[in-house]
Amino acid sequence: MVDMEEMISSAVDRNLYRFLEELCDFLRIPSVSARSEHREDMVRASSWLRDQLGRLNIETQIYTDYGHPLVYGSYCPYADKPTILIYGHYDVQPEDPVELWETPPFDPSIRDGSIYARGATDDKGQLFTWIKALEVLRATSGRIPVNVKILIEGEEEIGSPNLHRFLVDYKKRVSANVIVISDGSKYSRDTPAITYGLRGLSYLEIEVIGPQRDLHSGVYGGIVKNPLNALVEILAKLTDEKGQITIPGFYEDVVPLEPWEREEMEKLALKEDEVRDQLGVDSLFGEEGFSALERKTARPTLDINGIWGGYQGEGAKTVIPSKAGAKLSMRLVPNQSHQKIDRLASDFIKSLTPPGVKVYVKQLHGTDPVIVPRNLKEMEIAIKAIKKGFGKEPVFIREGGSIPVVVSFSRLLNIQPILLLGWGNPDDGPHGPNEHFSIENFKGGIKTAAFLLEELGKS
Ligand SMILES: [Zn+2]
Repeated sequence: MVDMEEMISSAVDRNLYRFLEELCDFLRIPSVSARSEHREDMVRASSWLRDQLGRLNIETQIYTDYGHPLVYGSYCPYADKPTILIYGHYDVQPEDPVELWETPPFDPSIRDGSIYARGATDDKGQLFTWIKALEVLRATSGRIPVNVKILIEGEEEIGSPNLHRFLVDYKKRVSANVIVISDGSKYSRDTPAITYGLRGLSYLEIEVIGPQRDLHSGVYGGIVKNPLNALVEILAKLTDEKGQITIPGFYEDVVPLEPWEREEMEKLALKEDEVRDQLGVDSLFGEEGFSALERKTARPTLDINGIWGGYQGEGAKTVIPSKAGAKLSMRLVPNQSHQKIDRLASDFIKSLTPPGVKVYVKQLHGTDPVIVPRNLKEMEIAIKAIKKGFGKEPVFIREGGSIPVVVSFSRLLNIQPILLLGWGNPDDGPHGPNEHFSIENFKGGIKTAAFLLEELGKS
């Protein structure tokens, strides 16, 4: 086995320059999913990927009925080995503001040990590590050692509006035992990580309707309920001064953090005074009894994201507005369900309606949280692979945000081992100007991916 490892490792080192050149070709295609003028580039990027996979003998198809072309490849010759589904995306965010880029976003440039281009880290560079890992495995042992399916979409940056439908239609075809996704970052520059938890989201819009037209606050003030007053009264009752959410039943399904998780988070402790200074606030705030890292990744939250109504222009206008509104997001944690939280929150908000106004609550968005059990054997295999590929043991982290496609994978395909293995550095600047991906991480990612696939092939 040591031989195999050495062979993989030296093959990556030997071919690194060529791999980088190929990645540059990929990065030169401006596959911006949000802009219709790039439709042809989306087609170009998807056929570029099909060629890459075709060279590895992976049977590849492009689906065009699901928005931007969706690339799907499959190599499943073994009856007695697990199937690994690799997911990634070839679309990128728009490049603007283009004047803030030191070198053009679609003309990759290598400097200070990193490759600079739109999509370098998110997600072309990270996705490409898996394709090159497959190539290295084929070159060193003559075969890919495990069944592999690879699903690459072109709509991740616009919210994957068609992927769920594809997964419903082709559920059987894409079924697998393990999913791997590299579309994120390590915990820090020198600490690789496995992300085992994602928060969910429940997003509501509230509308409060009062008199049928705006009124003079001198003439009518004192006899009607002002919808803006009503709205802020309601909103103020949703949380208390201790940072707790007061919606009845809100915490009912929250799974308490396990002792090992609290220990792990304590080790990683967020430097609270640094964060405070970076944000320019006097102090951090949040639920009592939990550390800042726990609060930002593993506890549920409620935030008002927008509020409107009445006069907002220059100077004074004495008006009682006829309506008012607000947008509200709640980040959810295992095992909360966004449907249940939507219902509990709506019921509570409506129950707070004062006489004289009507309150409407609309659901805008919902995603359930995800947690991958720590004790799966695939986790152990991933830890070992990362240790070999990056020379350091990974830490276990939860992510404060949500990735809806992961929920589709876990629910729809019913796959538990979802390995979220980000190879980026936290300051790679995805979505921003001068996005980059370190060559060390590119190399470490390819090696780790190859070690992982090799080892999964034996399980
Ligand atoms: Zn991404």
